[in-house]
This record gives sequence, structure tokens and C-alpha cells, in this order.
Amino acid sequence: MCPGCYKENVDGYCTTCLKKLFDGKKVSHILPFDAPKDENYKDYQDKTRKLSISGVQLKYSLKLDGKELQLAETGGEYILKPIPPSVQIINTSQAPENEHLTMQIASQIFDIDTADNALIYFKDGTPAYITRRFDINPEGGKFLQEDMAQINGKTKQSHGENFKYEGDYEEIGKLISKFVPASMPSLEAFFKLLVFNYVFSNGDAHLKNFSLIQSPMGDYTLSRAYDLMCTELHTPDERETAIDLYEGDDDNEFYARERRYGQVSFRELAKRLGIQSTRVHRIINNLLTARDKVESMINSSMLNEKSKANYLKYYHGKLSIMGMTEIMIANALDINKHDQFPSDRLARITFFRPRRTITGKFINKLVNDTPRIENNLYYFVESEHIEKYDLNQDEQYLTIIEGDAVISVEPFTPAAG
Ligand SMILES: [Zn+2]
Repeated sequence: MCPGCYKENVDGYCTTCLKKLFDGKKVSHILPFDAPKDENYKDYQDKTRKLSISGVQLKYSLKLDGKELQLAETGGEYILKPIPPSVQIINTSQAPENEHLTMQIASQIFDIDTADNALIYFKDGTPAYITRRFDINPEGGKFLQEDMAQINGKTKQSHGENFKYEGDYEEIGKLISKFVPASMPSLEAFFKLLVFNYVFSNGDAHLKNFSLIQSPMGDYTLSRAYDLMCTELHTPDERETAIDLYEGDDDNEFYARERRYGQVSFRELAKRLGIQSTRVHRIINNLLTARDKVESMINSSMLNEKSKANYLKYYHGKLSIMGMTEIMIANALDINKHDQFPSDRLARITFFRPRRTITGKFINKLVNDTPRIENNLYYFVESEHIEKYDLNQDEQYLTIIEGDAVISVEPFTPAAG
């Protein structure tokens, strides 16, 4: 299996990965040196003096020497992240594959523009995560890149030890609007990444994990995504997002009930960023579907069995808390979404906490009812009221369904008799 993209029946990296990562050079997925350890520590230190240590994770710089990757003090083209030391985090041996898997899910399944990356092995067999720097241009120069802490002037000196956790996502969005000309595509990409991070339990997407980068034309745009991983595997007790979505993001009924973000908080953020509601629905819908593909990629990853099970558990938990969208409900009932919800299709709806189910039918009324559509609310007639409702469409027999709180919808056939 290709350690870059999971393609089967390949020895080492597949042609596509070789092209993306190494411009087609046949580079081995096994590095010509051992993982850092006491014996070779000096060698690593000599060659990596200038590298920063971000958080607990050590990063090394590599460059391509012919067809061989070597540690580089200067002119690095790749970043190598070995298994981090077990300080304050658990399951460290799973970190390289966790990051690789999460990045692959983002790019292959959700079409998120990510840094090119792969899993690679030291000569002694231990895995590491490798990613190609995207701020290096083909001539070897650098594209200017600044992260959101830099852009916002937040440093350890100005905002203390936790400076990269100072602020909220709305603030980052506002910076994108300010510095990116024709900013909507970058804002939508940013919003999509935030929903992705939530669904895949990346609780460490702080200010330095979003950057603006200069394009060859000289203007700025949101950079490709990097550092995506399911942090819950390593820090299960940490909060679910690195920073707040916006000021007052907990001020809604859903949050008051669940004490967690749901679709409503994300929709409100998108609204504040000026993203059109049809686009917001499309983005959220995109990230909540494709469940089969995600499960299959997790299962074919190189995580150990326990980590696979946990990764899946966290993902399923997030799918539940994020509820359902109109398209998901229509698909579940096998309804062509252009027909909206015809009144003859019986459905059984299951809600998240308190877990309860109701049966009945969705009705057509939501057509042209913009506030209800924007807020993911639907008109429904519960089974016991169907006869009375059908008589003269009296609205007192309607129930309003909150799509945000729905876990599943399935076709329902009443028992005979
Ligand atoms: Zn590949």
C-alpha cells in the first residue's frame, strides 16, 4: 500500500505521490538514517540547530539530495515530524499516522487544499509524518507566508505564553476579509476547514495553524491546510476547539442544552463572515456525508486497532452532535431533493439527547420559507395527527423539527392492522 495515499498494490510511493511530493523522483519511503535517539542526538542537533520546536512536537527539516532525503540545516524543502515525546499527551506512537490520515481524509474525500504529505519510515522502521513545504517556489525562493498570530501582531511578548490561543475564529475571518482581495473563496475555504476540524476532533487549530500566503501574482490568499489531526486521540480531555468560534457562540438554545457546538453556532459564524447561506448549507452537508468513505479510509489506515476504534468513535460522536441537513434527510427518505418533502412519505426520526423517536411525515410547507430553511427547521406532521391535518391543513397539527438535533431519519412502514 502506498504510504502516501493508501493506494493498494504498490511498493513504496505510487506515481501520483512521487510526483506531488518529489516532482517524480523515485524517492524511497524509507529514510537513509535512524529516528532521533540518544546515540545520534548530536548529529540531529548539528543539522537542525535552527529549527523551532512547536509545542511538544519536534520538527526536522529535510532536503532532497539526488533521490535521497537528508536532514538539512538550511534550504529545507520538507518537514519531518517523528513520534513526539510522551509529555502530557497519550498514544504518541500514533501521531504520525493520525496526522497523515486526517490530512488524507481532508484532501481525498473533502477536496480540501492541503499540504502534500505522506507517512515515511526511518531506517530502523519507526514511522514519521513528512510534508512538503508549500512556501518554497519552483526557483527555490520563498513565497511570503504569515500566520494569523503574526498578522494580528500576537506574540509571547504581547499576549503571554498562550498567545496563539488568544482570539476567536471570527477574528481570523475578519483578517482574511481585510487582507485577501476578493476574499470569499478564502473565507469559504476557512469556514470549511473549521467545520472539518470540528467533525474530525482537531482541537488544536490555533492562530498559527492558519496562514496567508503570497501567490505568484503577488496578492495574498489563505494557504493550504496543514497540521490537521484528530487531537482527541492524544489529549482526550481538552476542549473541542482551540479557540471560540465568535464572541457569544454559546448563546443559543442548542448550546444551552448540549454544552457543545452544533450546526447553529457554525451557521452563525458563517453569517458573520458574510458567507451565503446556500454555500454554508452545501459546505456543512458535504462534511457530514461521505460517512462510508471516511470509515473505509480510517479502516485502511496504519493506525493501530485501538486508535482506529477511537478515531471512529470520535467521528461518529461529532456526526451525531452536528445533526442532519435538508439534503441528508431527503437522501435518507430517498426523495429527490428538488421535490422537497412530499407529504406521502412516512418517516421515523431519531433525535439526539434526550434520545427519542417520532414517526409521521415531512410536508411541503418549507418551500419559500427562508428563515425556516436557513435555520434547518422543517414542518412535520406526527402520525397521530395525519388524518386531522389532511382534512384542512390546520397548522395546529404541525410539529417543527430541528434538523440540528436529528441523528437519523428512515423510511417508516406502519405495522399492518
Ligand atoms: Zn500514493
